[in-house]
Amino acid sequence: MVGDHHDHLICMKCGLILEFEDDGIEELQDKIAQRLGGFTVLRHRHELYGLCPKAGGDPNGACPRDQAKSK
Ligand SMILES: [Zn+2]
Ligand SMILES: [Zn+2]
Repeated sequence: MVGDHHDHLICMKCGLILEFEDDGIEELQDKIAQRLGGFTVLRHRHELYGLCPKAGGDPNGACPRDQAKSK
């Protein structure tokens, strides 16, 4: 269950979606599933909601969405 997918950080203000992969998170999920009696995880989805640096108030924060728009 490691590899072949991305988990996501989603900006609640501008809708920016950042993809990430973290082996530690992937392994942790399998460990938790084992701890709960050997559940076999076939797929999952993480969506972490919050604010990108710009929406969070950082004046220098870049929002990739804005850059795409001003093209
Ligand atoms: Zn994942
Ligand atoms: Zn944003």
